[in-house]
Amino acid sequence: MAITGIEIFKLLPKTNCKKCGFPTCLAFAMKVAQGQADIEQCPEASEEVKAKLKEAATPPIRGFVFGSKNIKIKIGEETVLFRHEKKFFNPTVLALEIKDTESNIDGFINEVLESSIERVGQILKVDAIFLKNESENSEIFNQVLDKIINKAFDLPLILGISKPEVAAKALEKLKESRPILSGATPENINEMSEIAKKYNVPLVISDKGIEKVLKLVEIARSVGVQDLLIDTQPNSAKELLMDNTLIRRAALKKGIRLLGYPIITFANR
Ligand code: SF4
Repeated sequence: MAITGIEIFKLLPKTNCKKCGFPTCLAFAMKVAQGQADIEQCPEASEEVKAKLKEAATPPIRGFVFGSKNIKIKIGEETVLFRHEKKFFNPTVLALEIKDTESNIDGFINEVLESSIERVGQILKVDAIFLKNESENSEIFNQVLDKIINKAFDLPLILGISKPEVAAKALEKLKESRPILSGATPENINEMSEIAKKYNVPLVISDKGIEKVLKLVEIARSVGVQDLLIDTQPNSAKELLMDNTLIRRAALKKGIRLLGYPIITFANR
């Protein structure tokens, strides 16, 4: 956590009453700083102090879990800017894009299931399918969804849908899992936020550039959706890298939590 043991100690009552299970307030403060004790264990700490410590302990990049019934993927909650500073505990998700208009859906699914990519001695695999509603038709989308569920029941899904009514029908089918819903834009932000809230799924918000996308983030948050991903619609890999760096730096170095949403990268064939 960002706050030190000594700083926590200064906020405690310093009575050494031992009600927390530690011999002194200082010993307890050190354990809280290391994440090995919870401030709630001190019955003497004020609500104000508890709130302050919880805020300090919250990672600037929000973490959350998505996936299928049996495969859960955690993303976000990063605390360092560069890989060499510390291991990334929740690496970027790699997903293969499949359009619902493709004729060889089975082939794509097999490709994901058998995927194995070697990168500097590390074996990577495709973690999820990004199923895009290219047809804009609910029936076609759900047919493809059924195929994927039948063939690869446990594969985590990201649903790329721009029509709220198509999104609602697809999520009704996936109630036992927690897919990511992608496709919130200025045109549909209110409806998509309501749907993400109703089905308790993470929402990808897209608009051109950081400032615009953050305005949409505020709308989604006002509806009550907290698990959000930002898509700044970059035109090139260079722009993507620049936007991601800006967002990470703002969250991790300046503590601007509003910008601290995780980002995933989509790959296609
Ligand atoms: S319960 Fe609170 S006040 Fe008592 S020793 Fe532990 S930290 Fe100090």
